Amino acid sequence: MTENAAVAEAEALVAEAAGNDDGGSADGPKFTLELNQDQKDIREWVHGFAENVVRPAAEEWDEREETPWPVIQEAAKIGLYSFEALGQFWSDETGLTLPIANEELFWGDAGIGMAIMGTSLAVAAIFGQGTPEQMGEWIPRCFGSADDPKVAAFCASEPDAGSDVSAIRTTAKYDEATDEWVINGQKAWATNGGIADVHVVIASVDRELRSRGHAAFVIPPGTKGCEQGAKVKKHGLRASHTADVHLDDCRVPGACLLGGKEKLDERLARVREGKRSKSQAAMQTFEASRPTVGAQALGIARAAYEYSLEYAKERKQFGRAIIENQAIAFTLADMKLEIDAARLLVWRAAWMGRTGQKFENAEGSMSKLKAGEVAVWSTERAIQILGGNGYTREYPVERMHRDAKIYTIFEGTSEIQRLVISRAISGVHVQ
Ligand SMILES: Cc1cc2nc3c(=O)[nH]c(=O)nc-3n(C[C@H](O)[C@H](O)[C@H](O)COP(=O)(O)OP(=O)(O)OC[C@H]3O[C@@H](n4cnc5c(N)ncnc54)[C@H](O)[C@@H]3O)c2cc1C
Repeated sequence: MTENAAVAEAEALVAEAAGNDDGGSADGPKFTLELNQDQKDIREWVHGFAENVVRPAAEEWDEREETPWPVIQEAAKIGLYSFEALGQFWSDETGLTLPIANEELFWGDAGIGMAIMGTSLAVAAIFGQGTPEQMGEWIPRCFGSADDPKVAAFCASEPDAGSDVSAIRTTAKYDEATDEWVINGQKAWATNGGIADVHVVIASVDRELRSRGHAAFVIPPGTKGCEQGAKVKKHGLRASHTADVHLDDCRVPGACLLGGKEKLDERLARVREGKRSKSQAAMQTFEASRPTVGAQALGIARAAYEYSLEYAKERKQFGRAIIENQAIAFTLADMKLEIDAARLLVWRAAWMGRTGQKFENAEGSMSKLKAGEVAVWSTERAIQILGGNGYTREYPVERMHRDAKIYTIFEGTSEIQRLVISRAISGVHVQ
């Protein structure tokens, strides 16, 4: 390009920008991090519920280690716990409303937050793999009604299959005579396992194919052979029920196979012929759901940061507020910095997932990894800032720290996220 041509092009660009009221271009809206009115309204709505209903109940349900049904009912009554609300969060074309709503709710309390949001794991599986009829039938049943709310469970993990999902032993065999699937196995650590109306279970229909031989099944409420096993006593997230689920000759109608048998048979045939499976598509789905989990961790981190900031301004030692010491003030500065950096990664990945961008560098994993680690670090720092008080159950930051830790473990441990990122950036099958 000659110098004159370059100048002319630059002038044209400046003129175009100046003449464009919204600063956008023909290719789409300009880059902005400013939230629109809908996003702000939803953030305020969820924040209000988190502040007025969730927070005051947090300590009680953490101590009781029980599902906070009255709080779920309150959420259902105002429409926050419903498939309509989840649909509304999801439908935002920028992808930001879902993480924003999660951050606010988990800012209130993560245990109760998970009691409310745990259902969405099963909903996501039905939404991602079900036919339109299956979605219409099962997604509303995951929530029940405002007067009689229900929860749902997503059961993939097993005692010997956590990070290595391909090691799943639960089997599903088709009984042609009755058009039923017979499911046998044991699921571990299922959020809402056994207390759910709807369980979505991942089972192997062909063990030789490992993860490519897996399928997802809906277990309708009251199905014989689907029983809760041991309830897990946990370090944190104690208002959220976690339990084993036993499946003993559990028979479900053929129509409970998500996606339908024809699609499954076609997929298995392709895999057996040695053709590539759609593992890449599955990977993309995981990448797309991870920012939501990251946003939950962000909510915990922010709550701990805000609490310790206020405390540091109030608490006096050596005749001055402890925040006047750089050691404390710099820690709080770093907490704010890390939380904001994590939020940018979460929002980027959420936006990429919703707008169909390809996750070239495992950006979804990056967001969950960063937010989970920031939550653990920030809540630990918050305890330090509160000193002895931070270590007691009289103050909320120790609970936040216990709650935060799960975010480096479930939905893919930090090591697994690093594995996914390192493979994505290098193309090398890093072990
Ligand atoms: C509170 C809670 C709720 C849960 N909810 C659900 C749920 O609703 N549904 C569900 O299906 N599951 C659920 N889980 C299970 C959760 O997803 C698993 O615990 C998680 O995937 C890790 O598996 P694991 O516990 O078997 O750990 P392991 O896989 O045994 O890992 C142990 C350690 O080894 C490391 N490791 C393993 N493989 C590698 C590797 N290749 N390279 C480097 N390091 C490695 C891990 O990072 C980890 O540090 C829940 C768990 C908890 C605690």
